[in-house]
Amino acid sequence: MRIALFGDIHANLEALEAVLEDAREQHCSDYVCLGDVVGYNANPAECLEIVREMNCPVVKGNHDEDAAGDHSLETMNPTAATALMWTREQLTPEQRLWLRKLRIVRQVADFTVVHSTLDQPTNWNYVTNRFDAMSNFSYQFTQVCFHGHTHVPRVYIKDSKVHEVAAESVVVEPGAKYFINAGSVGQPRDGDWRSCYAIYDIESRLIVFRRVEYDLAKTQRKILESGLPPMLAERLADGR
Ligand code: ZN
Repeated sequence: MRIALFGDIHANLEALEAVLEDAREQHCSDYVCLGDVVGYNANPAECLEIVREMNCPVVKGNHDEDAAGDHSLETMNPTAATALMWTREQLTPEQRLWLRKLRIVRQVADFTVVHSTLDQPTNWNYVTNRFDAMSNFSYQFTQVCFHGHTHVPRVYIKDSKVHEVAAESVVVEPGAKYFINAGSVGQPRDGDWRSCYAIYDIESRLIVFRRVEYDLAKTQRKILESGLPPMLAERLADGR
């Protein structure tokens, strides 16, 4: 079984379609979505419907929660808040209800998925170093857990201690735990503009990261035409 782990799509339709096409070419048989289907970019309803029709396990991201609710976004950074207010208007009540009902943590096959971290997952804390990862490992009861949220692919391994290794292919070895950030489909922030997702081959225990090009100019044009903040189009080119 080859499972595609993809998240932080953020309403980037061109990126989502490119990733799903790549996953098919890579012979993925199953799909798991790590949350933040909407927010930031110009096609929230289209991306939501694609993910929903895939009928795969999906966990809730903080942007999914904010797009689904009616609460104030005052404490959020202004650009993200502007995009979320716009996103709320694009979605039907029924689509927002689908987002609201997404689960926070799920177990799939022999691994766990969560958007942020298993340590207080609805606080939406960011795991950016091995000390943050240590807090997660205290609550990780499967050998492997996939997450997203920072938009930066990362591999944290816990054996006798917790360490971080480059987000390249990794083999799941007995006696160690793995906390894997699959990167972002729709708004990568590691300096590489290409979409990122991960593939887990259950039989060979191999996890690989994929980078996929998409029609960036088209995505940027749609952001500008929709009246979203122009910096959301600019940052996609920088991968920031
Ligand atoms: Zn996100």
